[in-house]
Amino acid sequence: MAIIIDGKLLAQKIKAGISAEVKTAVDSGKRVPALAVILVGDDSASQIYVRNKKKDCEEIGIRSLEFLLGNDTKIEELIALIESLNKDDTVDGILVQLPLPKTLDEKQVIAAISPDKDVDAFVSSNVGQIMLGTQIFLPCTPAGVMEMLAEYNIDVEGKECVVVGRSNIVGKPMAMLLLAKNGTVTICHSRTKSLAEVTKRADILVAAVGKAKLITADMVKDGAVVIDVGMNRDSNNKLCGDVDFDNVKEKASYITPVPGGVGVMTRAMLMKNTITSWKRRIK
Ligand code: NDP
Repeated sequence: MAIIIDGKLLAQKIKAGISAEVKTAVDSGKRVPALAVILVGDDSASQIYVRNKKKDCEEIGIRSLEFLLGNDTKIEELIALIESLNKDDTVDGILVQLPLPKTLDEKQVIAAISPDKDVDAFVSSNVGQIMLGTQIFLPCTPAGVMEMLAEYNIDVEGKECVVVGRSNIVGKPMAMLLLAKNGTVTICHSRTKSLAEVTKRADILVAAVGKAKLITADMVKDGAVVIDVGMNRDSNNKLCGDVDFDNVKEKASYITPVPGGVGVMTRAMLMKNTITSWKRRIK
């Protein structure tokens, strides 16, 4: 029976540390950190994510600026808003909640964010820095996973690491961070042949697909560390991951739950990146 990696507890610990740091600096006269979050449209999941980010900011002492724009927002308006936030010296981080309505070109919008306020680490120059290992900001979800591995003293060096999913925001940067810790990394995707043959090799298996319970117990090696990034709804509309948690936990040595795993850590890492930016800017 696996040890359940408690993302909630670790996220609280990280946020408490950041909060204390902010309080000390602000009490000594430093400017309050600020995160600007832009939400375009009325996607209900995105509305929840934005609300949670605001809650995290309030908890830590970060000023949260929310920009809620309509579905019919023109790209010029959105880019003008981003450019004004880029210039605003009191703003440390800018986040555009994805997905954007189909009428807006995500690449063009992300490219408008100043790299030194790109707390999601989505701007191409920041993505390149991750490849080089010289980044200011780590991508939030993969960074959250790495924090969990470190907290539970799970060494990556020399381990067979399998990442299922190759998105730009999760799978690819996840693979890079595992590689940077000297893991032997394999990336799987929808065209991978014999997925189970590959996942069964993994000492550390990260599932970032978006398919409920895709990873079943027969796809997991005995004693593997299983990290579930997925956030899906099952047939009862209950939140669940990409991993068949109840059965896989009997085989794994460590496993992350959904909810209470990677999701909360992703939020904590966003706060950490905002504070990294703020510290660079108040120097
Ligand atoms: P994407 O849809 O961008 O990527 C999914 C990846 O999974 C693709 O690379 C795709 O392959 C691959 N894939 C799809 N089907 C299979 C299959 N049957 N076998 C193997 N690989 C497959 O998703 P994201 O990376 O954005 O997100 C993945 C999941 O993580 C989602 O559930 C999302 O909600 C969740 N998520 C959770 C976060 C958190 O904080 N916990 C943060 C971000 C995302 P291909 O490239 O070939 O199409």
